[in-house]
Amino acid sequence: ELRYDEMQELASMGASILHPRAIPPVRKNSIPTFIRSTLQPQVEGTRVADDVAFGAPQVKAISIQRGTVLVSLESFGMWHEVGFLADVFAIFRDLGLSVDLISTSEANVTLTLDANINALNEGALTQLRQGLEKICRVKIINSTAVVSLVGAKIRALLYEIGPALEVFEEYPIYMVSQSASDLNLSFVVDESQAEQLVKKLHANLVSQNQNAIFGPTFEALQQMNVEAHPQQVKPAPQKWWVEKRSELLKMASEEQSVYVYDTSVIDAALARLKSLSNVDRIFYAMKSNNHAEVLSHVYDAGLGFECVSPNEVDAIFKLFPNISTERVLFTPNFAPRVEYEQALARNIQVTVDNVFPLKNWPEVFAGKEILLRVDPGMRKGHHRHVRTGGKLAKFGIPLEDVNEAIALATASGAEVVGIHSHVGSGILDAENWSRIGHVILEAVDSLPNLKYLNLGGGLGVVENPNDQPLDIIALDETLAEIKAARPEMEIWLEPGRYVVAEAGVLLGRVTQIKSKEDLTYVGITTGMNSLLRPALYGSYHEIVNLSRLDESPSQLTTVVGPICESGDRLGSDRLLPPSSEGDVMLISTVGAYGAVMSSNYNMRTPACERVL
Ligand code: PLP
Repeated sequence: ELRYDEMQELASMGASILHPRAIPPVRKNSIPTFIRSTLQPQVEGTRVADDVAFGAPQVKAISIQRGTVLVSLESFGMWHEVGFLADVFAIFRDLGLSVDLISTSEANVTLTLDANINALNEGALTQLRQGLEKICRVKIINSTAVVSLVGAKIRALLYEIGPALEVFEEYPIYMVSQSASDLNLSFVVDESQAEQLVKKLHANLVSQNQNAIFGPTFEALQQMNVEAHPQQVKPAPQKWWVEKRSELLKMASEEQSVYVYDTSVIDAALARLKSLSNVDRIFYAMKSNNHAEVLSHVYDAGLGFECVSPNEVDAIFKLFPNISTERVLFTPNFAPRVEYEQALARNIQVTVDNVFPLKNWPEVFAGKEILLRVDPGMRKGHHRHVRTGGKLAKFGIPLEDVNEAIALATASGAEVVGIHSHVGSGILDAENWSRIGHVILEAVDSLPNLKYLNLGGGLGVVENPNDQPLDIIALDETLAEIKAARPEMEIWLEPGRYVVAEAGVLLGRVTQIKSKEDLTYVGITTGMNSLLRPALYGSYHEIVNLSRLDESPSQLTTVVGPICESGDRLGSDRLLPPSSEGDVMLISTVGAYGAVMSSNYNMRTPACERVL
């Protein structure tokens, strides 16, 4: 449901469902307006009316207005100058240009022109520039877009929107504007980035906050359509845990809470990775899941192991005593000197990610082959804690120090045979790895005989239903150019999540149910002591009531654990069937960074692990 002013704002900010001029007549005469999907007219859709309650403030929609032109005006004479703005706007008026957003400071006025209502051809913009240059400095940026968060009383929501705005870390913002009517918060960004940005904001602000105002998700609507027109709609592929439901229910009845891994899903992911024709070696980042059976499947597939601690290295040699040292990679960060000494003595491959060890302990590296971890300055990933590039991350040698690191390594008698880089985790953009490759190869052109280029891990999987899966074939294609330019050099990857995330589910049983105003809490037998990711990263995991898979979802539910922390929630505002004590809840896509991060916090034993 929307109020008229919200709908008006949406239409004006780029939503193309209703023309902005369609709204005033219905609003003036209080005529309720219904918006339905032509593809699914049976679905209730949106009602726009007078009597829609204000309710709690919330972001109701995110819109893009494309083809915007940004005009930035600078004048030091503006401070306390009477009539400066009048002079500026007279020029816009004389050219028949209507200004959209505006933001002012002492010396700058920035505004936008909407291409949909202004004739913004070259001639008009040249005339505008000439007129404005008579009174101030002018910068005009074409091809920008306005991304707006729309909802009544949006100011009251800033605290909630805050974390979602982290996505702007990766996107330059030209201007921020908040409407005087308190209905929108708008950001002017490069047009080429707007679409991607909206998807991310949608995932953070809408998909995770499903409630009665939004009605069923697109996924649920799709499902309803399947039921109504089974012949027309291609159903989404069945999840493995639906097929193996009875086995899972049996396992859940035997334990308080349990992680279950399906090794056939791991094998399928390994096969996809091995099909990458431009990647020569793959090391599994064992920090993501170190269960012995998982490691065995990785070993049997012929992958190597990326280890970040001596205990991880020991575990690999204990499980696979005959493994070749070439298949073990040690990539520590701020580790003590002795760990490098031990790893080099074992003859495994060692990555150095700081100048400090090379400068202060040169004798440790004498006569050894090493890799250097370089920070290409790019920051990618699903949360700021998993972005491992850029000055805010502790990892890697900054580009400007790479030549010094190479010189120090050479002086110590070591040979730099490989360059490594890992910029973040949960990345779904297939071009990420080739982009890293180009940046770091340019930085190390003083190493013509480089043998290995390790482009790290970070290959993402779909966690949120709105995500598009990583296109692994496209990833391979983007590496072809690097491979063609440097055929003698091996390209490596070190994924963790991609191998195991989708293969794991966490099962817990419903303990208690509680209602607080319009919120329903469903408690289960385990929480952040088993799965820390939602509390740590705000990560989204699909949750289903496995005991009631066939019942229609009708209740907005917040699923929580038994830990004494407000952050102990596994999922908020999920549409689920009403639950009962003893029902089995399944939390999906938790095979990576699930059990390995569990703890005994509150002296509660975390979920055990089982393999199918
Ligand atoms: N390589 C390095 C150096 C990492 O730090 C990590 C994750 O932290 C990985 C690989 C694996 O990342 P992912 O599980 O996202 O593939």
